[in-house]
Amino acid sequence: MARVCDVEGCGLPHRSRGLCEMHYRRAKRAGQLPPLPPKAPVAPGRRRLAVIEDAMWLAGTDSPEAIASRLGYTSWDSLEAALRPLGHAPLVRAILDRRELPKHIRDDGTLEAIPA
Ligand SMILES: [Zn+2]
Repeated sequence: MARVCDVEGCGLPHRSRGLCEMHYRRAKRAGQLPPLPPKAPVAPGRRRLAVIEDAMWLAGTDSPEAIASRLGYTSWDSLEAALRPLGHAPLVRAILDRRELPKHIRDDGTLEAIPA
């Protein structure tokens, strides 16, 4: 079902910030637009990439269990299970060996770790 306006009883199609075109314009004119959500939900693919980047940063800095915990995983096993299918065996090995990965920050600010 397509999203509709948040205003109770309105039911018009959603345009922006939870509002339909009419309520959006009305709120904008009144200077009362609802704030943007703090952070857009991260797409699952992007979230996986973020986990990989974070794990690359943390490799070698702490025990595998501690790294998993810092990344929000309940155990090293669950973090490993998340990384392995993504073709990151070298990263998994580095974490297990407590070995830091050489890192390189690309021009666009994203991180590239070079598995040794
Ligand atoms: Zn509306």
